[in-house]
Amino acid sequence: MGAVTAALLAPDRVELTEFDRPSAGPGDMLLEIISVGICGSDKHMYLGHANLEFPVVAGHELVGRVVAMGDDVATASSVVGGPVAIDDRVAITPSTLGCGRCWHCQHVPHKPALCPNRMVYGFTPASREPHLFGGFAQLMFVGPKSNIFRIPDDLSTPRAVLTEPAAVATRAVERAMGTGVPHVGEGLGIGKRVAVLGAGPIGLLAVVALRHAGAGMIIVTDASAPRLALARRMGADVTLNLSEMDDDARLAAARDATDGVGPDVVIEAAGVPAAFEEALAMVRRGGRLVEVGHYFDSGAIQLKPHTVCQKEVDILGVWAYPPIQFETALSLLQRTAAPIDELLSTPLPLAELEEGLRLTGREETVKVVINPGA
Ligand SMILES: [Zn+2]
Ligand SMILES: [Zn+2]
Repeated sequence: MGAVTAALLAPDRVELTEFDRPSAGPGDMLLEIISVGICGSDKHMYLGHANLEFPVVAGHELVGRVVAMGDDVATASSVVGGPVAIDDRVAITPSTLGCGRCWHCQHVPHKPALCPNRMVYGFTPASREPHLFGGFAQLMFVGPKSNIFRIPDDLSTPRAVLTEPAAVATRAVERAMGTGVPHVGEGLGIGKRVAVLGAGPIGLLAVVALRHAGAGMIIVTDASAPRLALARRMGADVTLNLSEMDDDARLAAARDATDGVGPDVVIEAAGVPAAFEEALAMVRRGGRLVEVGHYFDSGAIQLKPHTVCQKEVDILGVWAYPPIQFETALSLLQRTAAPIDELLSTPLPLAELEEGLRLTGREETVKVVINPGA
């Protein structure tokens, strides 16, 4: 019996495609996908924005049930929250472990996402054996060097589907944290004032993380009133609607809310180049700007380097996260008081992945979910 996937055969073309069911050799695992979220990057791939070798079984925001396991998974992979057994629910980071040998692995091992030799689930060509490298499928193959996280029993599967985007969001928030000297007024800490630009899944989960981490005032900007209403439900204090206020009015409102100086931290999660410009204009002098919205290249802006000097602003990029960020994400999803279930739409079956991709990014849907077993 094979495994059905919703494979991306070319841009704009998804088809149910069956592959042989692989066996789980030493160090391998087979997961039955219970639930998988659609990421903005899945949509970019579908629209042909990524340089991919088709076909690809996409999907990297997954919760799987272990249905087969080779002997030495615990030594071949990194297992957290384990030990892991048959029938356990797990989340897998999209990236495998760094190679340990390249320049970046040797010199900056705390940033394994910079290793160019990682395999990435959900982006690997399905022409490679054993084909099942993505979450939009009944079954997924998990090989050695994977990062496996056992999902805590008291965390529901719908919430656990948010683990990967919550890892991105918590990483963005933690990038703004200082080096343990909050009294000098740098970076993020209890009571600090933060603006989040963009109320998509990452922006909204950043709000959840900020509230959980003790931030003071949280300001959110977006062009969608329903998204901003959701941002308030997640913990935002002030919301500024781009479709109702011009740039100057938004900057003035952000300053009014922060003693006339601007937020300590601005997190750019909109993925629109102009939002970076706004972030730089909005952040207070001596503040921090975190750029997490641009995994895909969506163009350029003009900026004055003088502003970076004059503001003495720290600008910090985010490129994925170290694997252990999943532990942070799981802890947040388990313990947050925010009604995060409201971020999820009604799950669709695997055959409706294309519909899910169409819905992704619309203002009425934040995180579209596929349940392959449904
Ligand atoms: Zn994602
Ligand atoms: Zn490496």
